[in-house]
Amino acid sequence: MRMATGRVAGDNGEIANHLLRQGLSRLGIRATPAQLHAFAVYRSELLRWAAHVNLTGFKSEEAIVREGFLRSLTYKAAFEPAPGLVAVDIGSGAGLPGLALKICYPEIGMLLVDATRRRVTFMRHIIRQLGLNGVRCLWARAESLQGETEHRGRYHLAFARAVGALPEVVALAEPLLAPGGRLVIQCGQETAPSLQAMRAHLTALGMRALVVQAPGVDVGSPPTQLLALEKSLR
Ligand code: SAM
Repeated sequence: MRMATGRVAGDNGEIANHLLRQGLSRLGIRATPAQLHAFAVYRSELLRWAAHVNLTGFKSEEAIVREGFLRSLTYKAAFEPAPGLVAVDIGSGAGLPGLALKICYPEIGMLLVDATRRRVTFMRHIIRQLGLNGVRCLWARAESLQGETEHRGRYHLAFARAVGALPEVVALAEPLLAPGGRLVIQCGQETAPSLQAMRAHLTALGMRALVVQAPGVDVGSPPTQLLALEKSLR
């Protein structure tokens, strides 16, 4: 990763930096100074762009760190990062969770897909700014990738945060997963009943469900529950 040079615009985020370092340590992630700097640049650019462009709902540096970066990084509890892994982040928005995971785990190949042009422009800006390699960003609807041999059945991991209800997300991600690949999403209140209602469909797709718990992102915050839907190897 290239160390971005120059001042982090508008950065008075010592609290946010502290929150990030503390959260990373709770999640068991050892970040290098270059990675911490990358998050500071990303955070600062998110805030700077948010003044003009509707990118995310985050209103403060702390919210970006806690609900944006750290919450995204909890996804790592549901897979083992390794060279050669290829992931797709569907509806990545401003790059969450895909770009946050890519900063911490540069060995993962990452495709970020979003249907909204301004968010894709922002993600491309961050990728350039941070000099990240092995990450691509597509302005597209995820459905349109399903018929392309470059994408269909190619990904070891799929993420889709805040993109839709479980059946919709499964329909978007499953065709893109390789045998043995995993769709990882964060559980919400509706996840357990949706999972129950989808059991027969998931069995027909050859997908098994695993619930994984990650540490809370802040002192006193509850653990994050993740759902991994793993496609069979057949
Ligand atoms: N994942 C990000 C996050 O957690 O901050 C963004 C969440 S935002 C609520 C949902 C994003 O999904 C939007 O940027 C929207 O453009 C994108 N989206 C929704 N349906 C999509 C689809 N079928 N294909 C690609 N992007 C989609």
